[in-house]
Amino acid sequence: MSEAGRARVIKVQWHNPDVFELWLERDNFDFVPGDCVALFGSDGQGSRPYSLASGIHDPELRFLIRQMEDGEVSPYLAQLQPGDTVKMSPPFGWFRPGQNGDRAPFVFMATGTGIAPFMAYLRSYPDRPPQQCYYGVRQRADAVAVPWLREQIDLRLAVSREVADDAHHGRIADLWADSLPLPSDTDYYLCGLDAMIDEATVWLQGQGVDIARIHRECFFNAEL
Ligand SMILES: Cc1cc2nc3c(=O)[nH]c(=O)nc-3n(C[C@H](O)[C@H](O)[C@H](O)COP(=O)(O)OP(=O)(O)OC[C@H]3O[C@@H](n4cnc5c(N)ncnc54)[C@H](O)[C@@H]3O)c2cc1C
Repeated sequence: MSEAGRARVIKVQWHNPDVFELWLERDNFDFVPGDCVALFGSDGQGSRPYSLASGIHDPELRFLIRQMEDGEVSPYLAQLQPGDTVKMSPPFGWFRPGQNGDRAPFVFMATGTGIAPFMAYLRSYPDRPPQQCYYGVRQRADAVAVPWLREQIDLRLAVSREVADDAHHGRIADLWADSLPLPSDTDYYLCGLDAMIDEATVWLQGQGVDIARIHRECFFNAEL
């Protein structure tokens, strides 16, 4: 796809009342994990970027989306029905989780739907997992695909606003402080809320991690 076109909806799969997965038909669409597309709202004018969550060899395109109350685009995407079409841009992006090229070790850090590009990576390259993956959510139900993630990787899950029996109660910052940094050639990929990304960046740099090894993709400007 070299210019914006329309993709057919396969389904909208809800993980909880706020977070859903949008499945779209894939038609001659090449991308790399970390790429986004712009998905357009009802008027075909306003758009927002969304990270691909599917693997590069999967037959369909998948997106993991938080529905924002009063939002312009995400509520529109949430009400789509199978067979509808949605306007979508070609893929773009610079965030390249796990693809540092030098085979150095790497770590993922995500909040909320910021896990999406890491799911794209794991679905694409299951044979080369990160050393660790930190995943912070507000409610336990916000954490998607946890059994599958635990099979794939060393998952460090933190839930900030409720107690869950299979997760740390608090923020992922509590967890990484005990386990990081890893050796100096480790790359860190951070995605999700700006607050987590800023905190992790400052903390990692304070531990001597080179800024060139810290890769960031900010989805939202809000407090977790
Ligand atoms: C590179 C990139 C990739 C992205 N990928 C994804 C993705 O894979 N999945 C995903 O769900 N989102 C992703 N986003 C966020 C997405 O682009 C939209 O910003 C989001 O869906 C809200 O759009 P909206 O039109 O529904 O709401 P808007 O009309 O843009 O906003 C409605 C209101 O909600 C506020 N708001 C927005 N986000 C939050 C929040 N988290 N908490 C509190 N208030 C908020 C806004 O400030 C505004 O006041 C990505 C953003 C970027 C920059």
